[in-house]
Amino acid sequence: MKINVSNTFNLELPADKNRENDRRQVLEACFSYVNPKKTKAPELIHVSDEMLNELGISKEDSLSTNFIEIFTGNKVYPESKPYAMCYGGHQFGNWAGQLGDGRAINLFEINHNDKQWAVQLKGAGETPYSRSADGLAVLRSSIREYLCSEAMHHLGVPTTRALSLCQSGDQVLRDILYNGNPAYEKGAIVCRVAPSFIRFGNFEIQSARKNHILLKKLTDYTIKHFFPKITITGKDKYLEFFKVVCNKTIDMIIHWQRVGFVHGVMNTDNMSILGLTIDYGPYGWLEGYDHTWTPNTTDAQQRRYRFGNQMYIGLWNLFKLANAIYPLIEETKSLQNILDSYNDLYEERYVNMMRKKLGFEMALEEDNKIINKLEIALQLIETDMTIFFRNLGLVNKEFKASEAIEIIKDAFYSFTDFKNQVKQEWIAWLELYLKRLKKEEISNKRKLQNMNLVNPKYVFRNYMAQLAIDRAEVGDYQLIEEFYMMLKKPYNEQPEFQKWFSKRPDWARNKVGCSMLSCSS
Ligand code: AMP
Ligand code: MG
Repeated sequence: MKINVSNTFNLELPADKNRENDRRQVLEACFSYVNPKKTKAPELIHVSDEMLNELGISKEDSLSTNFIEIFTGNKVYPESKPYAMCYGGHQFGNWAGQLGDGRAINLFEINHNDKQWAVQLKGAGETPYSRSADGLAVLRSSIREYLCSEAMHHLGVPTTRALSLCQSGDQVLRDILYNGNPAYEKGAIVCRVAPSFIRFGNFEIQSARKNHILLKKLTDYTIKHFFPKITITGKDKYLEFFKVVCNKTIDMIIHWQRVGFVHGVMNTDNMSILGLTIDYGPYGWLEGYDHTWTPNTTDAQQRRYRFGNQMYIGLWNLFKLANAIYPLIEETKSLQNILDSYNDLYEERYVNMMRKKLGFEMALEEDNKIINKLEIALQLIETDMTIFFRNLGLVNKEFKASEAIEIIKDAFYSFTDFKNQVKQEWIAWLELYLKRLKKEEISNKRKLQNMNLVNPKYVFRNYMAQLAIDRAEVGDYQLIEEFYMMLKKPYNEQPEFQKWFSKRPDWARNKVGCSMLSCSS
């Protein structure tokens, strides 16, 4: 297997001088060299043919022992020197100090077809940043990360990617619910890939330590490689950089709201500087549309990272990034101006995104009201977000509200609650919607086509992940393959997968792993 290794991060930024793999505060460095841990019985579970292509690795190579050894960390690729990055972060609103890649190890960067990719293993053993944990990952969370990152990509959501999912053959001890019941689980390793894994927290840690030289080096590196359009110099360069990061972050969150994705742990160490969805932990998909929903049981009280709060947290996190890079700019007003424009930008893009979901081509003043009222209606009774929007595409302009109800009612979890006030409000909304639709010149057919491009038919529902996990735990990887194939084309009808276009079954409502997840992974 020949890989076109083309490292930049570890060549252009300072390394930790200490080469021991013990836990410590790493000062004056952006990363520490560390080798992955050898595993007992590495085994390939799945590989993404698309990522193989992107990286210039052949299918044949992916089936070799060499591939498995390299992508489980059992062998270090000849021209490479694995390392873990140093970053800090604000977790659940509080400064947490140094965090870093506690269980991610970067193998190398690849340049293929003029695209730069950083390749890292998640769950490949301890690093100087592992704090009190083991550096490992379990099979269930690795399946969730592997399938979801590829699914998000095909949904058109900016995200880190995944190349491979392997079992390590080792046993890993986890207390899933943090309730004093630890148990051994199968260990696994995901190889994930992105142009860069730099997070807000990489800047925060240097700034918190007042290491402005390193802060500048890291920011210059980031701009040079990932924001090449920024060519101005001086403090304007950093302001422009911040503005672009704000833009990308807004776009990412708008996409989350479009497909009903709840990240679950939007700490600043989990915010990619490239605006990519990163660190798939206790994330979840909205089944019932609900602004207050979060899958993360660790956040069940505060619900800081609930669906309806993601945009505000985006801004909060950007505020922390602004503080971190302030020493490069030393002027509050311009940074503040950029942050002040966040809400308006978000609102404008959100409304445009929702217009598309509703099948509107024109932008009319009244759309805001229609969208607000829809968000209220969707929360009157439990309504499946994905099914609702997908079926709404089938509502023709000429329909009466009563006919439209017949089309969308499949999205309701229980039709028995659909009466009285609830029914009246839905009819009122549909009348508003149909009246608005009539102002459009597009045909019903084109409206449906347009809507089907933004309203996915298939998402990686929480219970689907759990089904794939339950099967994989007993060595059956068929569902992983099935979901991988289905989620490659989430906007296509794919009649062969029709059974997955259905509401969450009742058994999954309160099942651990389906709607309830902890950070234990
Ligand atoms: P997360 O909440 O998964 O984003 O993790 C927060 C921090 O904890 C990051 O620095 C992780 O690298 C680290 N971490 C999480 N799980 C482990 C683990 N099993 N071993 C070592 N470090 C971990
Ligand atoms: Mg993380």
